Amino acid sequence: MRLVLFTDLDGTMLDLYDYTYDATLPALNALKRNGIPVVFCTAKTQAENEYYREEMGLKDPFIVENGGAIFIPDDYFSFEFECKKRDNYCVVELGALYEALRKALTEIREETGFKITGFGDMTAEEVAKDANLSVEQAKRAKAKHYNESFIFDEPKEKETILFDMISAKGFSHTYGGRYYGIHGKNADKGKAVKILTKLFTQEYGAVNTIGIGDSMNDIPLLKAVDQPAAVRNKKGGWLDISLPNLYKAKGEGPEGWVEVVEKFTLQ
Ligand SMILES: [Mg+2]
Repeated sequence: MRLVLFTDLDGTMLDLYDYTYDATLPALNALKRNGIPVVFCTAKTQAENEYYREEMGLKDPFIVENGGAIFIPDDYFSFEFECKKRDNYCVVELGALYEALRKALTEIREETGFKITGFGDMTAEEVAKDANLSVEQAKRAKAKHYNESFIFDEPKEKETILFDMISAKGFSHTYGGRYYGIHGKNADKGKAVKILTKLFTQEYGAVNTIGIGDSMNDIPLLKAVDQPAAVRNKKGGWLDISLPNLYKAKGEGPEGWVEVVEKFTLQ
């Protein structure tokens, strides 16, 4: 049966702090030799995904902005399906569009006076400084289409008001420790994985899917695959979820990733 690998990037295939992935290269090359698709499923933008695909020499589809959209290279599948043609991709959009998200944030700011600063309100230099990125990395991170990251500079107890307002406007929120996020209710890593799995199945007949992640936002991804796997995080533990067949890698980040790939795909 054909295998398809879905993988998170930050903290999973890439080191959480310095984004290195040297440890994964031999296993990645073996996946390429064996024709096993490596599908990124990440919070990262199209521009960030393209950067890593190019660096790693991958040609497979990818899922951006936590399930906001699926990008499938033109002619990747031998059949036609419903999508938007853009930049040599067939794009399946699940999330709300950036302009609508920005508009909702502006309205909330005006209605409440909350100090909300989105990536769209900041220059690439400001994002770089705040997020500890290079200016080039910040430009790619700012190129959002299906979610907006923002700083909420208000007391913690006002969070509930913020979240209620986001929900009342028809959107969902995330909180990642430093940045808050707003995105469409339908943007979901799991939904995106299921749509792509269907397309792979149509192309190859039955497929066996493997998913690798490191944190809570990967749970929908892990629930949507045949073989879920978690790599160890920087705190030495694993994401808090009980899935009957979850494989917990001993290795942290990229090293755990290699362990999973060797165990489930290269044997
Ligand atoms: Mg991650």
